[in-house]
Amino acid sequence: MRRKLAAGNWKMNGTGVALNELKELSASHPSSPVEILICPPATLLHRAGNTVEGSGITVGGQDCHAATSGAHTGDLSAEMLLDAGADAVILGHSERREDHGEQNEDIRAKARTAMDAGLKAIVCVGESLEQREAANTLDIIGGQMSGSIPDQATGENLIVAYEPIWAIGTGKVPTLEEIGEVHDFIRARLERRFGEGVGRSVRLLYGGSVKPSNAAEIFGVSNVDGALVGGASLKAQDFSGIIRALE
Ligand code: PGA
Repeated sequence: MRRKLAAGNWKMNGTGVALNELKELSASHPSSPVEILICPPATLLHRAGNTVEGSGITVGGQDCHAATSGAHTGDLSAEMLLDAGADAVILGHSERREDHGEQNEDIRAKARTAMDAGLKAIVCVGESLEQREAANTLDIIGGQMSGSIPDQATGENLIVAYEPIWAIGTGKVPTLEEIGEVHDFIRARLERRFGEGVGRSVRLLYGGSVKPSNAAEIFGVSNVDGALVGGASLKAQDFSGIIRALE
């Protein structure tokens, strides 16, 4: 059985006061059957980890460098994230692919380093609206998967997040059939590449405008093991609503 996962991506949002939301979240979900992960900006990672300590909630990073150390001003290594309390790291988010020109091979190298350091890698894939309209969605997802997921992936160290770019922060969500089609495809691809055992144990998250009001129906779709949530993870009350839909 794959454990359900609710992952919050705070993106470039939050200063110290935002930790109050984490306190509220930990109080609302003591020993949840759902794995709850919050990825705050790196400046808050250590304090966020301290805030949720003992609650079962874990924290993670939003990116890491592919190198383990060295002359990379402004960057963070996987080991640094781990040292600051991270359990996981989001890699290849479409905003990083777009804002920082990250390519599949960059993401694969980062994922390799993150896994070697002992972090779970949440590898993001997703098509643009143009690609969907041209009926290229599955080709794009397949290419991103083979390019960005390293060979040492297992059910423990890999999580795949399907995030259609046009659904992120827009309030637009694919139909349940569209989500199911992509998640079934991702599962089949993982089984083909890594074998049934590993392929079936990797968790698949849906991301893009998930809210308390649409979470339950999305979680009812086959091969959806949870969500990667942006905007609705910033407020404890909203994120709680999404977690409850998984519990
Ligand atoms: P959203 O973002 O929930 O605000 O649409 C999701 C994401 O980018 O991970």
